[in-house]
Amino acid sequence: MKVFKFGGASVNSADAVRNMAQIVRKHIESEPLVVVVSAMGKTTNLLEKLVPGTLPHPSDPAPEALRTQLEDYHLGIANALIPSDMALTGKIHSLLDRLDTVRQSLNPSHHAYNYNYDQVVSFGELLSTTIIAHYLNHHGISTLWQDARQLIRTDSHFREGRVDWQATEEAVQAQMAGSMNYSVIVTQGFIAGTPVAGTTTTLGREGSDYSAAILAYCLGAESVTIWKDVPGFLNADPKYFDNTVKISQIPYSEAIELAYYGASVIHPKTVKPIQNKHIPLYIRSFITPESDGSSIGNYHTISPSTPLYIFRNNQILLSIMPRDYSFIAEENLQVIFGVLNELGIRVNLMQNSALSFSICVDDNPQRTGLLIERLTAMFHVRYNKDLQLVTIRYYTQEVIDSIVAGRPVLLEQRSRLTEQLVVPVE
Ligand code: ASP
Ligand code: MG
Repeated sequence: MKVFKFGGASVNSADAVRNMAQIVRKHIESEPLVVVVSAMGKTTNLLEKLVPGTLPHPSDPAPEALRTQLEDYHLGIANALIPSDMALTGKIHSLLDRLDTVRQSLNPSHHAYNYNYDQVVSFGELLSTTIIAHYLNHHGISTLWQDARQLIRTDSHFREGRVDWQATEEAVQAQMAGSMNYSVIVTQGFIAGTPVAGTTTTLGREGSDYSAAILAYCLGAESVTIWKDVPGFLNADPKYFDNTVKISQIPYSEAIELAYYGASVIHPKTVKPIQNKHIPLYIRSFITPESDGSSIGNYHTISPSTPLYIFRNNQILLSIMPRDYSFIAEENLQVIFGVLNELGIRVNLMQNSALSFSICVDDNPQRTGLLIERLTAMFHVRYNKDLQLVTIRYYTQEVIDSIVAGRPVLLEQRSRLTEQLVVPVE
């Protein structure tokens, strides 16, 4: 069996859905094709604003207006795909009614926020897959709509469900056993359920790649293909580089390193499960589906060989020093990491000297404000904002010089394969 994953941008309009359906049609085989789909376009962002307890941003439309926008967007796509299909509009209306009921039933207190979030935001994927499964069936592709909450089982860590692999494997095998006569099985990315009660959970933003990997693992799939709006895995984000190079072959370990350093092309958790079963992962373009794309698999090195660049903007660099000018020792580090862990802040780069400990983290205004406040109570803290963290794999001195381009380097770390630099944003 093969697993395909289509993200929000690949299904953000009626034309996009038609294009996606054409790709699916071309890949129908004797065994069902498992198609994992995200919410359409920016629906998840919209739904986040409809979660009871969310503080509205001053520029946000009122919840009623957002609710109408959600309805118009999905009905608009459905009507453009199959004009006046009462069965499809009926399904959309019943999902939206259910969403309203769920929102009314939730307690807006901030203790329940993560639970509320998953109950509401999951409707994006329910809507997209309902429309897509209906459309494929309408065009003669026998398609089963499968509820991912009955396949992927997690604990009740809302917004970041941790997969219960055994329960998931059992559920996937049990559900799939009765589905072998279909050409396509459409299911939702990102959403999951708890084992006994089946309460909705999610796997974290951009988690649909991970859903595809989980299902592929449990099915022992032949391959996973992620259809994206880029021609494959590029050596740099085209936002920063004019002359990007497509990397055709990437070892699993390299893909994990790149995701760790912040390459946005795949969700960081995606590679591990499929690596364990040696399942190849393809990244292909839904815009030029006939072209090859990139493949992640059992390779020794990347090919072609070229430097790889990862840029993380909006970084803040903190230097933390004990107030009594004592040395930075294990007990200080323990306190610092305790605070970071409590605030859920991930360290992108760290370095210590005798008298200070430096960390580079994403500058999220609420969280870093709290972090500085908490650390200042115990340490001297100095910081620089508006920085960029650049990671270069397979660097050369020439490449480093051209990236630095005369900027002051606030922190640098070099290993055999990787150079990391913290510099002011250009
Ligand atoms: N719809 C979810 C999100 O936008 C999951 C995904 O697209 O992967 O984060
Ligand atoms: Mg998305």
